[in-house]
Amino acid sequence: MAKSNKSTAKATKTSKRSRRERRFEPESSANPSLVKALGAAGAVILGAGAYGQLAPSLREGGPISWAPWLLAAGAVATAVSVWIGTSADGAVRVGDAGIAIEKRGVLRMPWHAVKRIALKGAALEISGTNDAGDPLELSVSTRSHPQATAWVVREARRRIPSLVEVPEDVSLAEAREDTGRAIALEAIQVVGKVCAAGGKPITYEPDARICPRCERIYFKDDVPDACACGAAKSEIALGS
Ligand SMILES: [Zn+2]
Repeated sequence: MAKSNKSTAKATKTSKRSRRERRFEPESSANPSLVKALGAAGAVILGAGAYGQLAPSLREGGPISWAPWLLAAGAVATAVSVWIGTSADGAVRVGDAGIAIEKRGVLRMPWHAVKRIALKGAALEISGTNDAGDPLELSVSTRSHPQATAWVVREARRRIPSLVEVPEDVSLAEAREDTGRAIALEAIQVVGKVCAAGGKPITYEPDARICPRCERIYFKDDVPDACACGAAKSEIALGS
């Protein structure tokens, strides 16, 4: 009995939910062994070229005539391996705060601002707005971001299922728990926002209620029976 009382007290203390997200670095779409082999070959040729160029000059006869060509070939192989081994795509974040791409800053679309998620060829196209209401289109490649796309679809199906236009039978990578780097997020700044239902401004933090799925913010007395994302009124809690 004492044990259950203790756990109830603990649950009350931690009723403010913690916000988190996962961060995914892009993967190269090139075969990783090819990148490694090319990089290694480049390094060996560079070494041989440098030896041919420098070692003989320390003895007699001057550098070997073809050594500069070896140096150049080694440099090219190394450069190509670096070029195909690094992807131009930015890192992707998925979690409570929505979907974000790190590209010249962070482009973020909260779940409540998503209008549509669809798969076009090898990319997940996410259209909607940013938190300020400006139109935003995010594109996440299934090639350079297999786990990020899998997690976007998994989270979106749970949070905003009616807006996901990705057929169930399409073959995406399975979202694995052990992927991405977990990041703890700060609480939502609710003061200064307006209620998503009545438009009433939130001036006092305890007056705000937040939808745990899409993070729409409501004034405590104006919470609708169901959030626009589909979450029930009972799910919408004292948040931040
Ligand atoms: Zn919602």
